Amino acid sequence: MTKSDIKSWNQKELEEFLVSLGEKPFRARQIYSWLHQRLAVSFQEMTDISKALKEKLASCCKLTGLCQVRRQISAVDGTRKYLFELDDGNRVESVWMRYQHGNSVCISSQVGCRMGCRFCASTIDGLVRNLTPAEMLDQVYRITADTGERVSHVVVMGMGEPLDNYENLLKFVKLLTDERGLHISQRNVTVSTCGLVPKIRALAEEELAITLALSLHASSQEKRLALMPVANKYEIHQVVDACRYYFEKTGRRITFEYALVGGVNDGEEDARELAALISDLNCHVNLIPVNPVLERDFVQPDPARIQNFKNKLEKYGINVTIRREMGRDIDGACGQLRRRYAPGGGE
Ligand code: SAH
Repeated sequence: MTKSDIKSWNQKELEEFLVSLGEKPFRARQIYSWLHQRLAVSFQEMTDISKALKEKLASCCKLTGLCQVRRQISAVDGTRKYLFELDDGNRVESVWMRYQHGNSVCISSQVGCRMGCRFCASTIDGLVRNLTPAEMLDQVYRITADTGERVSHVVVMGMGEPLDNYENLLKFVKLLTDERGLHISQRNVTVSTCGLVPKIRALAEEELAITLALSLHASSQEKRLALMPVANKYEIHQVVDACRYYFEKTGRRITFEYALVGGVNDGEEDARELAALISDLNCHVNLIPVNPVLERDFVQPDPARIQNFKNKLEKYGINVTIRREMGRDIDGACGQLRRRYAPGGGE
C-alpha cells in the first residue's frame, strides 16, 4: 500500500481523511498545526494526539521530512546553502539569505529540469522528477528550524521549472501562505519561469497575489533561441504578452530576469532592443551577471560593461537593478552544489 502524503494536504483534505478513519473533525486542526506551524518531524511529538491515532497515522501516512546532507555558511554575508536528501535518495538545493527586509529562502521545485537552458547547471542531466508540495514546503520548514528565524520571503528560483510542476506548485503556494501554517504573505512569494505561456496565463487566473519573474535573458527571438530551447515553443512576443496579461489580471508588477553573458547579450544594441520590447509593461529588470558553470563556457561581462548596460536601460526609462551576489565565498551557481555532491560523483 502506498502511504498518503499527509503534509501535502490542506486542512480540509486532512479533515476528510481523519473523519474517514472515524476521528473527530477537530483533530485535523491539531495535526495541521503540528505539521505546518510547529514543524513536527514525527508523529511521536504530537503530544495532544492519542497513542492509538499516532500509530494509525504512522501506518498509513508518510510524513515527508528532508534530510540535511550539507550546509555551507558564507563568512561574507551569512548566506546559507543547503543540500537536502529526499526519501528516495534524490537531492535538492535551497538557499537562505538575510536581507534588510527579512529572510528569504530560494527553493527547488523539481529534481533536475527538462528546459535545457544553455547556461544552467540544473538541466544538464535532464528532469528526474517533480517535487511534491510537501517536499517544497519542507525546504522552508527545515531552514526555519535550522536558523531559528522567521522566513518572510520565498522565491521559487532553485532547481527546476515550477510551471512544469504546476498543480504541486499551486498546492505548495496555498499551504505556505495559509494563515494556519507559516502564513507567509503571497506578496512575498515569487515564482520564476523560463516562459511556459499557457501556464503563465493559467496562473494569472488563480487569484493569487504572488510575483511572477520571467527569465527573459535576450531581447530578440533569435538570441533567446540560442540560449533557451523553450523559445522554440513560445516566441518571445508571446511570452511578453502573457506577462502583460499576468499584470492585468493580478496587478503584480513583473520582474524580468536577464542573465548577462559576455559578448552574447550584453551590448548597447541589446539594451535598446530590450527596452523597446518591454517599455509598455509595468515591470522591473533584474540583471544577473551569468554564473560560470563548469560544464559550459559562458563568461560574465566586465563590471564596466554591466554598468553600461544598466545605464542604457535606465536612459530608456526601464526600472533596473543589478542582482547583488550573495554567498560569493560558498559554492557557485545554482545547481552546482548538487552536482558536486552527487552520490558517487564529484567529491
Ligand atoms: N526554471 C525557472 C526557475 C529556476 S532558475 C526559470 O527559468 O526561471 C532561476 C533563475 O536563474 C532563472 O532566471 C535562470 O535563467 C537563472 N540561471 C540559471 N543558471 C544561471 C547561471 N549560470 N547564471 C545566471 N543565472 C542563471
